[in-house]
Amino acid sequence: MAIAAVQSFLNQLYHELKGLSEGRVATYIPELAKANPDWFGISVVTLDGQVFEVGDVAQKFTIQSISKVFVYSMALEDYGRENLLKKVGVEPTGDPFNSLIRLDEDSKRPDNPMVNAGAIATTSLITGQDPADRLNRMLAMFQRYVGDEVFVDVSTFVSERSTGHRNRAMAHLMLNFGLIDEHIDEALDLYFQQCSVLVTCHDLAVMAATLANKGVNPLTGVQAVGAEHVRDILSVMYTCGMYNFAGEWAFRVGIPAKSGVSGGILAVVPNQAGIAVFSPPLDGHGNSVRGLKVFEALSQEYGFHLFDLSLGHCRFAQGLQQT
Ligand code: GLU
Repeated sequence: MAIAAVQSFLNQLYHELKGLSEGRVATYIPELAKANPDWFGISVVTLDGQVFEVGDVAQKFTIQSISKVFVYSMALEDYGRENLLKKVGVEPTGDPFNSLIRLDEDSKRPDNPMVNAGAIATTSLITGQDPADRLNRMLAMFQRYVGDEVFVDVSTFVSERSTGHRNRAMAHLMLNFGLIDEHIDEALDLYFQQCSVLVTCHDLAVMAATLANKGVNPLTGVQAVGAEHVRDILSVMYTCGMYNFAGEWAFRVGIPAKSGVSGGILAVVPNQAGIAVFSPPLDGHGNSVRGLKVFEALSQEYGFHLFDLSLGHCRFAQGLQQT
């Protein structure tokens, strides 16, 4: 049976990388330690709704840091770009995601919304009448991107809530600077809930494809976020999305992306596709080891690097042809 070239390429990458034993599953959140290191899925969703996938693309896991992209998109809508910039910067840190050193030393403003301090500050700005209303608005937002119902994994939420002392320390420091208001326990709960939203690798690819498609979910036609915010979201992903590997990622892979400690990486190829990889073993930066290898290969094969795209070197159309 004829299949698209991209599907053959994904199958080949999957078989090449499946046996890889590098990396470690995150354990600092006790629930995450239960992940199977062999889980591995790759999903590509095009703007006309074609789906190419291989492996464990329907396995559910918690979204973790990848949620920061989407909550940032919500805060841009709720709060406005300029107001948001006053609270949370857009500067890459080069520090680990959970560092609080620069918060104290520097501007008293989190550097960017992709590190934990910036994400907690961003989450604290989500509007709503009460905590339940804010959570429901957030779940509705995720639902627009995914195109289906989403749920919070209560075990992971409780696990993070009872062990997230660094995140609590950051919130208290930001309260001390007057950057967030005194409802810090509510803001932290909402942050732990957003990190505990259950997704699949397929869902992440649809979410990425929505951002690649000017904010419109290509499978449902629903506008998940105003098109005017997409450039800002992708800029922050490009410069800050891959922990303290963001510069090297921009150089080697060149696709706006975000990774999370549960092993997901979501990447947006503007006007082409959304791509996601799920594989829990992480490298020292917190990025999925198999994920990095898949994206490096895909970027190389199809000319997905932003500076290949802008020079007209994208070869994805060939990948969509049958072989
Ligand atoms: N919930 C995690 C934390 O706050 C998210 C970290 C991540 O995925 O980078 O530590």
